[in-house]
Amino acid sequence: MPSISDLFVSLEYGPAPENAGVAETWLDAHARRFGHFIDGARDAAEDAETFEVYRPSTGEVIARVAQGDDDVVDRAVAAARAALPEWEALGAAGRADLLYALSRGIQRRARLFATLESLDNGKPIRESRDLDVPLVARHFYHHAGWAQLRDQTHPGRQGVGVVGQIIPWNFPLLMLAWKVAPALAAGSTVVLKPAEYTPLTALLFAELCEEVGLPPGVFNLVNGDGRTGAAIVAHDDVDKIAFTGSTEVGRELRRVTAGSGKRLSLELGGKSPFVVFEDADLDAVVEGVVDAIWFNQGQVCCAGSRILVQEGVEDRLLEKLRARMETLRVGDPLDKAVDLGAIVDRVQLERIESMVAGGAREGATVWTPSSTMPDTGWFHPPTICTDVDPGSPLWTEEIFGPVVVMRSFRTPSEAVELANDTRYGLAASIWTENLNVALDIAPQVKAGTVWVNCTNLFDAASGFGGYRESGFGREGGEEGFEEYLARPNHGTDQPFGPERDARPAEETPDAASAGAADSAGGGLDRTVKLYVGGRQSRPDAEYLLRVRSLDGDPIGEVPRGTRKDIRNAVEAARKAQGGWASRTAHNRAQILYYLAENLSQRESEIADRLARWSGDGDASRAEVAAARRTLFTYAAWADKWDGRVHATPFRNVTLAMREPIGVAGLFAPRAAPFLGLAATLAPLLALGNTVVAVPSSVNPLPAADWIQLFETSDIPAGVVNIVTGVRDDLAPTLADHDDVDALWCFGTREEGAEIERRSTGNLKRTWCALGAGRDWLGVHSDAEEFLREATQIKNIWVPYGA
Ligand code: NAD
Repeated sequence: MPSISDLFVSLEYGPAPENAGVAETWLDAHARRFGHFIDGARDAAEDAETFEVYRPSTGEVIARVAQGDDDVVDRAVAAARAALPEWEALGAAGRADLLYALSRGIQRRARLFATLESLDNGKPIRESRDLDVPLVARHFYHHAGWAQLRDQTHPGRQGVGVVGQIIPWNFPLLMLAWKVAPALAAGSTVVLKPAEYTPLTALLFAELCEEVGLPPGVFNLVNGDGRTGAAIVAHDDVDKIAFTGSTEVGRELRRVTAGSGKRLSLELGGKSPFVVFEDADLDAVVEGVVDAIWFNQGQVCCAGSRILVQEGVEDRLLEKLRARMETLRVGDPLDKAVDLGAIVDRVQLERIESMVAGGAREGATVWTPSSTMPDTGWFHPPTICTDVDPGSPLWTEEIFGPVVVMRSFRTPSEAVELANDTRYGLAASIWTENLNVALDIAPQVKAGTVWVNCTNLFDAASGFGGYRESGFGREGGEEGFEEYLARPNHGTDQPFGPERDARPAEETPDAASAGAADSAGGGLDRTVKLYVGGRQSRPDAEYLLRVRSLDGDPIGEVPRGTRKDIRNAVEAARKAQGGWASRTAHNRAQILYYLAENLSQRESEIADRLARWSGDGDASRAEVAAARRTLFTYAAWADKWDGRVHATPFRNVTLAMREPIGVAGLFAPRAAPFLGLAATLAPLLALGNTVVAVPSSVNPLPAADWIQLFETSDIPAGVVNIVTGVRDDLAPTLADHDDVDALWCFGTREEGAEIERRSTGNLKRTWCALGAGRDWLGVHSDAEEFLREATQIKNIWVPYGA
């Protein structure tokens, strides 16, 4: 028997098991067999095909759950659709009351929720009890607030409609809360599918919905595997899909929903950097690593799974980490004294083991502590890998297990380069005692969340979501709430008024050379060149398109740009991107104001030219004047579309920064050929994006005026690039291009579908706005929609206080 003083030295302690009884009793009360929850009623699962649900810490089957098929999904969607009017009619305060009741209900049943979660998922009870469940309650509280305020904060906006939500197994209840709370708060109704490994807490939540009196059909739960998820995604009567899961499935969802008009948000995987500078408090760093990669056995989308450490402290950090790892306890998730629980399923465990073994074969040094592992169930020891080949999947791929890889860097710029050397962009953690360094690095890291001297902090008031292949859309905060509100429908992009008869520019019969284009002869009064990298240039192939007036007379020619022209333009835009984004908003505004000033001096001349096409002098003058006002509008917005500081309940500031998306491709509207280009370019430019723009396909000639204006303004080379041509030629190259971060297409449904389908490579953010119902002449009234689409939000968490 050790003495008390021995214990103070060894810090030995025994097990502290939580009683599983409360969860076992609940399971027994349901005979351990569950169906779905549709239209306020629980389906008996008696005749249904079922799948088994396991307890990962023992490997035993603890329940059977029905596999939803197409009919079940149909019923659930129909119930959600039918519930919408009543849910909206209930009013803001009525919905808020119910969300509040849900949060109170979760708190009342916190112990059952936490125990059931740990039983089902294998996560330590300490985490489900102290983190998952409290955050779930917090989410419903926070969104009870959004429900209450919707009509004041977002006047005129209603819920997006029926939302299909598909969630993963790593935070089963928390992911449910992240999805369901904002949807209900906005006035939408839900069909949710939990992950097949972990459906139990969602079933308990469905009971709570009954208990608090949520109107039938507002929340529907359909169980099943990927096939059930696919049926929800494909369903014609679903207005939005919200998905959290792997990048692979996210990509498939982007492809399947392309052109359907369904809104889509994707919260996908990550390989997040954990950057340690020499001056960091290494003891705090060690605890940070514990939270970053051994929290929830590393099955965390934003796990700090790549440690980048500055050379001078690499050995010391490794030594300290190994010492700390020796003290981590792996064991029964219901033991309150355990640090790491079980891996969710045998399949996942085998996947982790095979990735580690693969890395070891490639020469990585794999280190695990000497502590013993449980004999039964699916456990993996905390693991640190060094000497990992940067090309190895162990370094590049998401492992989704308690395995961290580590390598060193020398300078801050090398740290940024390594941090961004990944296709993902979900989160990052930066450790340094020098706030200047932290706040210099944070904006440079491409990630939706950056934690300074902390990690894995979450809150309902702060948005969470990815850059790049970690997906798009946010959950939490105003930005997450907005995802569930309907947007105005602007109809399809058909030219309006007399423009309805406009013919797309067509190839000239004699495939004229670009040389001919220089001499604006033959009755043609206008020729355009491409504009790439700040210079007017000839197209790669010397084909021209002839532009006709609305009366059918030929009035000019433009080059028919090629794939190569697009690639050159993207390269120029990428080169200019960093410099443009890092200019001050004031400076970008000045440049747009100056452009508008230059335009004002040439308005009548430009309007006359435009009138040759449209035959309508008044309309042309109005269009050019509106273009000037549009430039002023977005110049005005440049330094006002700023971020905010979220009120998260920690001792820190959470800075929500609006950042440009990067290099944007743009298919300008057909209608209003002069104004349309300005109205879509200006918001992108004002907020720091660089652009490859394809002008109106019916009249690309005004691009020539814009190019002249750009040349006489202070817009740096490469910030705007213009390639004229046939959309069908150019769209695939822009949509396929992995160095294009966003793509806006004001076009037809078919064009939008093609772009969305092709954007899956790097999961670029697309905005296929079907646009001519839009009032281009007064476009600045819906400026917010453009500003939102032109930016993405990064949340930077900075702790303060001792
Ligand atoms: P997964 O993509 O295999 O499954 C996620 C969900 O999608 C499950 O419910 C599954 O049944 C369903 N699904 C599978 N195929 C489908 C299809 N074709 N159509 C529709 N639904 C389908 O992912 P997983 O293994 O359950 O979860 C782990 C992944 O989730 C990791 O990549 C992790 O990074 C990610 N994740 C991301 C976040 C985030 O917020 N970004 C949060 C948690 C987890």
